[in-house]
Amino acid sequence: MRIAEIFRSIQGEGRLTGVDSVFIRTSGCNLRCRYCDTPYASWSPEGEDLSASEIQEKVSELFFPSVAADAVEINSSDTFSEEAAEKNSSDTFFAHVVLTGGEPMLFAELIPLTAALREREYHITIETAGTLYLPVACDLMSISPKLSNSTPPPELDPHWTWRHTLNRHAPEVIRRLLAEYDCQLKFVVDCPDDCREVEEYLAEFPEVERRRVMLMPQGVEAEVLTEKAVWLEPYCADHGFTFCPRRQIEWFGAQRGT
Ligand code: SF4
Repeated sequence: MRIAEIFRSIQGEGRLTGVDSVFIRTSGCNLRCRYCDTPYASWSPEGEDLSASEIQEKVSELFFPSVAADAVEINSSDTFSEEAAEKNSSDTFFAHVVLTGGEPMLFAELIPLTAALREREYHITIETAGTLYLPVACDLMSISPKLSNSTPPPELDPHWTWRHTLNRHAPEVIRRLLAEYDCQLKFVVDCPDDCREVEEYLAEFPEVERRRVMLMPQGVEAEVLTEKAVWLEPYCADHGFTFCPRRQIEWFGAQRGT
């Protein structure tokens, strides 16, 4: 599968904010959000093709650099050392892996990759727009449904305006993900009117508990996010939603590898 980057950082969004994690960013997306902050994994996909075992090896190196080096020396075909697996399953360390994109659910290789990560007892989060289904191993399905505010304008790319509009909402996929996984829903909100659209969206899915719904301001600059938080945070408090800041922007700015 094509991988744009694999890096270790701190989760900046959602229920696991603040958790040390390794992020695997797949490259390629079936949507083209106008505000996409990872165009190198959607509009202009970059990266290299890596096998599931090569990806596991890089994850292992990021969590356990010395152990991974030993494992390579002992047996170069062994992509994950037993010692690392043992450390990972100890009470003192619980390693989190986040599969993000782009759209990771585009890749069928995600099925064996997540199965292997599960076998090693990693906690697995998958960040998806919720338009594609795969029977993956996953501890937290972090769904970011795309509202109409995500649609790219025709002057940018008329073909993608049409294709994005056609594909951004897949209710049968959302229902299946909700039924099979522990889910959080993160909506990107640009203006107060978007909150009305969130309510219309949720009316289609009465099974969603409001406490699992997060509203996140749109933006890649800390000042813009702060301005939007002024009205969005109280709105969330008044309507039973969780306000979801984008902490990685505050901590690191809009940078790759964070
Ligand atoms: S779904 Fe995500 S990766 Fe794809 S275009 Fe939208 S924001 Fe970018």
